[in-house]
Amino acid sequence: MFSKLACASLLLTSVLAHSPSKVVDSSSKLISVHADKNYTSVMKFLQKEGFDVLGVDLKKKIIDLNVSEDELKELISKGIKFEVESQKALAAKVDERYLNPDEIKEILVETNKSYPEITKLVLVGTTLEGREIWAIKISDNAQGHDIKEPAILFNGMHHSREVMTTEVTTDIISYLTKNYLTKPEVKNWVDNNEIYVLPMLNLDGNTKVWEGDNMWRKNARGGYGVDINRNYPTSWGACNGSSGWKTSQTYRGDAPASEPETNALMDFVAKIKPVFNISYHAYSELVIYPMGCNGQRTKNQKVVEGIGKEIGSLLNYQPGTSWETLYSVDGSDIDWMYTEHQVIPYVIEVSPRSDGFQPDYSKRDATVELNRKGWQHLLTKLGSSRVSGVTKPNTLIEINGLQRDGYKVSNMYTTNPDGSYHIILNDGDYNITLSDETQIEVHVGK
Ligand SMILES: [Zn+2]
Repeated sequence: MFSKLACASLLLTSVLAHSPSKVVDSSSKLISVHADKNYTSVMKFLQKEGFDVLGVDLKKKIIDLNVSEDELKELISKGIKFEVESQKALAAKVDERYLNPDEIKEILVETNKSYPEITKLVLVGTTLEGREIWAIKISDNAQGHDIKEPAILFNGMHHSREVMTTEVTTDIISYLTKNYLTKPEVKNWVDNNEIYVLPMLNLDGNTKVWEGDNMWRKNARGGYGVDINRNYPTSWGACNGSSGWKTSQTYRGDAPASEPETNALMDFVAKIKPVFNISYHAYSELVIYPMGCNGQRTKNQKVVEGIGKEIGSLLNYQPGTSWETLYSVDGSDIDWMYTEHQVIPYVIEVSPRSDGFQPDYSKRDATVELNRKGWQHLLTKLGSSRVSGVTKPNTLIEINGLQRDGYKVSNMYTTNPDGSYHIILNDGDYNITLSDETQIEVHVGK
């Protein structure tokens, strides 16, 4: 008991020393650290000390921070060089043309009214403050479930200050519905997949942003907020990729999956079993794939990282794990989706550092248009690189084979609750062993 208290008081001292701010007050400053060759070690220090890292320019090795006066002093004492940026980004109100929770709902309802044959609204859950979290299904068989069609999920705004993310997710909805009858590739995607878009997860946090806390990132728990994207049960609190302090911007919550928003997404993913997912965040121009803890990789790394790198080159965004590009992250949605549901999930950090969290609205169109290349690449992959079938529900199947580049593949997969399986593989020749020992030979690629 005593040792626990002693430990707590030590930690408290260290937190008070740089008092991470939960809201932007007049003493907060936006600064940029030019880390150059020390990028990795500076980032580790900032994360360990609980700084609010806003975003980066990975090519120039610049890290943006929102700091208090005490934190500034801490940086000076450590000899870390920084520049104080214009306060515009912290003080400015968000451009009202960016979407609020009511406008998101309106877009979903109107889309469903205009395209009832290919859309269905899905109530995914309720936030802590009682707001409804909605998603939309886009498919030729929107009302039912086609066992032969793979599901794919696009979600936005785990973090409420990242206002460009809901522009990207609502653009996916509008692009797929408006072009369904006129663009053959769109008809093909919608007819052969079950596409789900959840445009805004953190409705409570976004409400705070519109009420004036324009740098609010977390949900609305207790006035301090929990970082929903550190609250998932996989590797929760495992590798200093989150904080145990309520005032930190990366506070992981009291327990794994303690937050209703986290649970809403988890229940939804468990139900629809997507093959791919993109979680949209801002900013930094990155494509991030699992796993989040330093040194960890996915078992089918060649597939997961290969496709992540393809998206990176299409968008001219930097691909990598979070620990390669930023810092370790634990309790994230993509690690949970990958580990628990075999999803191939990505985080895409849209917008360059120069745009920040509240880009001028004139940046909106170019950003969503560029990002079409990313989500469309996954829809194309579903058509070209997938092996599918139906066998016994919830059973293990084994895949062995050779990729075209000579890499030997040996992996286990669990079939979906309906018995279907949809597996993404690189070009090559494979042998699938089903649970009843049936063997199927498949060829992926031209
Ligand atoms: Zn984010």
